Amino acid sequence: MRLPDSINLANLPTKIERLERFSENLGDINIYIKRDDQTGTEIAGNKVRKLEYAVKEALDSGCDTLITCGGIQSNHARATAAVAARLGMKAVLVLRSDETPQLEGNYFLDKLLGAKIILISSKEYATARNEIMENIRGEISKSGSKGYIIPEGASNGIGTFGYFKAMEEIKQQEEEMGIIFDGIVVAVGSGGTYGGLFLANTLYKYGKRIIGINVCDNAEYFKNKVISILEESGLYLNEPFLYQKNDIEIIDGYVGRGYALSDKKELDFIYNFSAMEGIILDPVYTGKAMYGLSQEIKKGSLIGLKNLLFIHSGGVFGLFPKRDMFEF
Ligand SMILES: *Cc1c(COP(=O)(O)O)cnc(C)c1O
Repeated sequence: MRLPDSINLANLPTKIERLERFSENLGDINIYIKRDDQTGTEIAGNKVRKLEYAVKEALDSGCDTLITCGGIQSNHARATAAVAARLGMKAVLVLRSDETPQLEGNYFLDKLLGAKIILISSKEYATARNEIMENIRGEISKSGSKGYIIPEGASNGIGTFGYFKAMEEIKQQEEEMGIIFDGIVVAVGSGGTYGGLFLANTLYKYGKRIIGINVCDNAEYFKNKVISILEESGLYLNEPFLYQKNDIEIIDGYVGRGYALSDKKELDFIYNFSAMEGIILDPVYTGKAMYGLSQEIKKGSLIGLKNLLFIHSGGVFGLFPKRDMFEF
């Protein structure tokens, strides 16, 4: 398969490990974790895989500034700031915050990495973020800079190839480990990670179940979002692919209090999981998704799956702003 070109940014391949005690507690199932939280330090997490494709496109079109958006603690914005600095480019981040933000977590790192930050309200973010990024691109062009806009989460046709390639990596690791994963589980926040895994699984006919757990909006919203990402990705491939909307498996029910908001059971879960496995989950994505996975297994809704691979998509820096909410 001829994928679009990419640049090398992440530390790959990331390890796959079995969750010994967690699996044991859940009964007759093997849960493995792919450590995409270890794709790097400043760039840690899933977004850098997508940036390997998006930033290649930016460089090929002669751009010197990456413009993107996200929540105030966006992992994607921080990874973009880090990549820009590594490559001698500039970054402009349009971040959502209704109050004066505390200088911590990813937002602190954005500053440290030299990104220019523009804060907007959640209302402006919902209705006008793309227009605001377009205006920034227009503005910087007056001084001779050329901006490349990366949409939220780099979840578009080009970015999603990062997880297409990750699926090829998983296939290779299955062969080396002598294991076949019958399901892959991932947190869904803007849909690109899910989209790439789903696209490779479809095109290569791997026959795995790709299971997403949404951390905002709802399952129907993300099924449609994934479809629109896949349509865009299709423009880069000259290979037709067929799938059913119903094959897009998104499990709803674990958004909790809302995007980036935590409740006690989620934080208790993160604490118990860290102490049990020595692996730290994040409060916005992987904590909710791993909690959701454990609940679904207990409910019996994933019966028949033997080897599950959970993608640890990163987010550790988002844990620190929540430290006062933990009860030990
Ligand atoms: C962005 C993000 C996700 C979700 O990935 P999408 O491709 O946006 O759906 C999951 N985990 C972490 C830590 C993230 O930063």
